[in-house]
Amino acid sequence: MNIAVDNPATGAAIGHVPDASAEEVAEAVERARRAQPDWAALSARTRAELFARGRRWLLKHRQEIASSIVAENGKALEDAIVEIVYCAGAFAYWAKHAPRLLADTKIRSLSPFVLGRAMYTRRVPVGVVGVIGPWNNPLINSFGDAIPALAAGNAVVLKPSEHTPLTALLLEKMALECGWPDDVFQVVTGAGATGQALVDTADFVMFTGSTRTGRVVAARAGERLVPCSLELGGKDALVVLADADLERAVNVTIQGALSNGGQMCTSVERVYVEEPVYDAFVDLLCERFEQVTSGKPAGLGSTDVGAVTFPPQLAVIAGHVEDAVDKGARVLVGGQASPGPGRFFEPTLLADVDHTMKCMREETFGPTLPVMKVATAEEAVRLVNDSSYGLQASIIGSSMKRARRLAEQLEVGCVTVNDAQTNYMAMGLPMGGWKESGLGVRHGAEGIRKYTRLQAISTNRFPMRRDPHMIPYQPSAYRFILRLVDVMYGTGLFGRDK
Ligand code: NDP
Repeated sequence: MNIAVDNPATGAAIGHVPDASAEEVAEAVERARRAQPDWAALSARTRAELFARGRRWLLKHRQEIASSIVAENGKALEDAIVEIVYCAGAFAYWAKHAPRLLADTKIRSLSPFVLGRAMYTRRVPVGVVGVIGPWNNPLINSFGDAIPALAAGNAVVLKPSEHTPLTALLLEKMALECGWPDDVFQVVTGAGATGQALVDTADFVMFTGSTRTGRVVAARAGERLVPCSLELGGKDALVVLADADLERAVNVTIQGALSNGGQMCTSVERVYVEEPVYDAFVDLLCERFEQVTSGKPAGLGSTDVGAVTFPPQLAVIAGHVEDAVDKGARVLVGGQASPGPGRFFEPTLLADVDHTMKCMREETFGPTLPVMKVATAEEAVRLVNDSSYGLQASIIGSSMKRARRLAEQLEVGCVTVNDAQTNYMAMGLPMGGWKESGLGVRHGAEGIRKYTRLQAISTNRFPMRRDPHMIPYQPSAYRFILRLVDVMYGTGLFGRDK
C-alpha cells in the first residue's frame, strides 16, 4: 500500500511513499542490527570523514532538499534553509565532540573497600536507534536527531511523518552516495502503525511529536524496557518586562511566534506584558503584525508565513481563535483561514485574553498570538507556570540580573533572555521539556550520551591472596576495614573492641 503526499500550499499531489508493514520494519531493524557492530568498530576519525562527506552532500544538494521541504511542508524557503544549516552544523559538531563526550571516565574512590582498584566507565552504543519524527520540521526533528545517534556508533532506522516523508528519503540517497556502510542508516515510511512497529523493535526510541502520541510511545517502550527520549508539545510563553526595549521585544515576539508559520514546539504561543508598557507594546506589535505576509512560498522573500501543513490543524487554530472571541478576546489582526487552494491561516493577533481560553492553555501550532496584560512580573511567572507544558520560555528586559532571577523561577526546560528559539542552534546547550513537554534532552552531553549504555569496570591490579574483605578472614581483618571507614567518615558506628 502507498501513502499519498500533498503540497499543503497548493493542495497538489506531489508523491507517494510505501506504507511499511510491521514485518518490513522488523526486517529493517534486523539489517541495521547486523550492520551496527562494524559501524561502531570504525574509528571516530573514519566516522567523522563519512559525516564530512554527508555535510558536503547536504550543502551541494541544498536546493533539492530545500525544495523538497517546502513542497511537502509548505513552509517559507527561509525556514527550510534553517533546517539544512542546522544539519550541516550538526554533522560537524557531533563528529568533533562525540569522542570527548563518550570517552572512558576514570573513577576515583577513597573507600578502603576498593583500595588499589582501577575503575572506569565506558559508553557502549545501544544498538539500533529508532527515530520517529513529526511533520513540522522534516529534516531537523528527524535526521537531526539521527546524527548524534550515529556518531555514538549506533545504526539508525528513521520513521518520518506520513505527511512529510520525502525529504527523509533524500537522506537515504545521501548515505548511499557518500559511501556510508549499507543499512547503517535506513528510512521506513508509513503512518502511526509503522512508528509503533519501530518502537516494538528498536533498542532506543528517539521520539519527537505530540504529547498524546508520546505517552503511547513511552508506555510501549516501557513494556519492553527499552529507553526512550521524548521531545513533545509546548505552550511557550514570552514575558515582556517594563524595562524592555520594545522594538527588540516586538521583533523577538514576531520571530518567535511566526517563524515556521508558528508550527514549532518552541513557538511563542502566549505573551505576558507588564502593565506600564502593555499599550505601547501592543500598538507596535499590531503595526508590525499587519505587515507580515502569508501565502504560497515561491523563493526567498516571497512570504513570511507559509502553509498549515497538517490538514486537521486548520480546525484547531480556528477553534482556538473562536473560543477566545466567544470568551471576550479582541482580534487585532487576521482571525480566519485564508481561501484556498492550499491551507493558510491569517497571522492573527489576539488581545484581552485570559487563562480560561484554549489559546492560552492548549498548543495551537499556528500563526496566532494571544497577548495578556499582567500587573507584575511575579504574576507573569505564576501564569507561565500555570501550564501542563514546560518546554521553553522567553523573557525580554534590560536588567539581566532581574531577568535571570525570573528565568530561574520558570518551570520549563529552556529559557532565553532577550531572544526566542535561538538556543536550538547551540548544539552544546541541552534542549528538552519539563512536565508534559518531554523526557530527556537533545543537544549537550546528555544529547549524545543517552544513545549509549554505561558499563562500569573495576579491576583489582594487585590481587592479594588474603584480602581482608574476604569472608574466610572475617571477622578480625574485616573489622579492621570497618574501623578504618569509621575513622575516615566519622560514622561512629563500630566503636572499639572491648
Ligand atoms: P504526532 O505525535 O502526531 O506524530 C509524531 C510521529 O509519531 C509521526 O511520525 C507519527 O506518524 C508517529 N506516530 C503516530 N502514532 C504512533 C504510535 N502509536 N507509535 C509510534 N509512532 C507514532 O505529532 P505531529 O507529527 O503532529 O507533530 C507535531 C507535534 O510535535 C507538536 O505537538 C509539536 O509540539 C511536537 N514537536 C515537538 C518538538 C520538541 O522538540 N519538543 C519539536 C517538533 C515538534 P504519522 O505522522 O505518520 O501518523
